[in-house]
Amino acid sequence: MKEGHRPVAVVGGSAAGFFTAGLLARAGRPVRVLEWAEQLDPTPRTLIVTSRMRDLLGPVSESSIVNEIWQFELFTDGRAAAVQLERPDLIIERANLIRGLAEQAQRAGAQLEFGRRFVGLEGDGKGLSLTVERARDGRQEQIPAETVVGADGALSKVAQAAGWPRQETVPLIQAIVPLPAGYPPGTVRVWFVPEDTPYFYWLIPESPTQGALGLIGEDGQETRRCLETFLEKRRFEPLSFQGAKIPVYKWGVPVGRSVGAGRVYLVGDAAAQVKVTTVGGIVTGFRGALGVAEAILNGGRSRELRALRRELDLHLLIRKTLHHFQQAEYSRLVDLLNASARRSLSVYSRDDAARVLWHLCVNQPRLLLLGLRGLLARGSFSRRGRD
Ligand SMILES: Cc1cc2nc3c(=O)[nH]c(=O)nc-3n(C[C@H](O)[C@H](O)[C@H](O)COP(=O)(O)OP(=O)(O)OC[C@H]3O[C@@H](n4cnc5c(N)ncnc54)[C@H](O)[C@@H]3O)c2cc1C
Repeated sequence: MKEGHRPVAVVGGSAAGFFTAGLLARAGRPVRVLEWAEQLDPTPRTLIVTSRMRDLLGPVSESSIVNEIWQFELFTDGRAAAVQLERPDLIIERANLIRGLAEQAQRAGAQLEFGRRFVGLEGDGKGLSLTVERARDGRQEQIPAETVVGADGALSKVAQAAGWPRQETVPLIQAIVPLPAGYPPGTVRVWFVPEDTPYFYWLIPESPTQGALGLIGEDGQETRRCLETFLEKRRFEPLSFQGAKIPVYKWGVPVGRSVGAGRVYLVGDAAAQVKVTTVGGIVTGFRGALGVAEAILNGGRSRELRALRRELDLHLLIRKTLHHFQQAEYSRLVDLLNASARRSLSVYSRDDAARVLWHLCVNQPRLLLLGLRGLLARGSFSRRGRD
């Protein structure tokens, strides 16, 4: 780290934080990553992402890929539709991915500091001063920084300290289950069960014998109860459970703000860079990291951040539509997935929402009408309190 230059302090050593740190260090910026955990030991977790992750990360992503998905099967109320993918989705092991990104950031020159809990920040005339508590002995220290990047997850303390409003979250719960005999390992199954959740259930195979079956809901206890009933009805034996709160993206919340003479940015879950259609946050978190690194290096400007915002806004529009679908509308949706509409879904990934939507509407205009009805009839996003 160059003497005399205040570093960029990245709070949170996980996927989005390490990727941001690596990008900035490679561009020659002094970077310190401050992570609460005492050592690099991320919780293993099975995730599904689009192939866009490979484009964004390059070779570092390869060691985390445990399976490829070539087909989605959609189910609702006794109906089914299958969508083949032209580029596979990737099943990744999150712990390997995070280790790879940490190594990459360190090799580029970032300083990784574990056992450091961010407590607060304030402007100090030349930039920012962070208060950080050491896990070892509970002692607090002040760390000067030019810019702070909050990559500290859905319940971001950096966001809170810098004055962002508290973000809304939804519960995600998944069970690791043995796959039924003969289950195709390159296929993800999705069930729309609107009486249980406005989102969906999924079964993601992580190996030929084991998969993750889960759902996103609105209320934690109710979501857990729905998952247990679903597992029991379909005779799946849970081996273990994984769960967390996933942030919900909102229109118009900026990812950067000034505090005194310094700048504070948020990336990943801390910035709710999550597609609210599928509640996937890995690829969009990496795009957010790319954008924030670009903004820090270019005096606040970033084309990537603008493109990401457009993409996330579009996902929000689609979610507002889907959120109020009842069984009849899901049944119609699955029926309407004719061959040409299925082709649009197979060629363009969910990380390219604008193109998926355009091609779907051109190929199957009734899908557009169905969506517009959902949007106009009910308007608001939350189903809570619905009659
Ligand atoms: C069970 C589960 C399944 C999921 N499935 C998918 C999926 O299939 N596809 C997908 O795209 N996404 C999925 N997600 C979402 C995805 O995992 C997240 O969007 C992504 O991991 C967020 O990464 P992040 O780096 O922004 O934050 P996090 O991984 O939450 O990292 C935050 C880091 O900050 C540290 N930290 C927190 N507070 C402090 C502090 N005060 N001081 C210092 N450090 C701090 C934490 O220790 C942690 O290391 C899933 C999430 C869960 C829980």
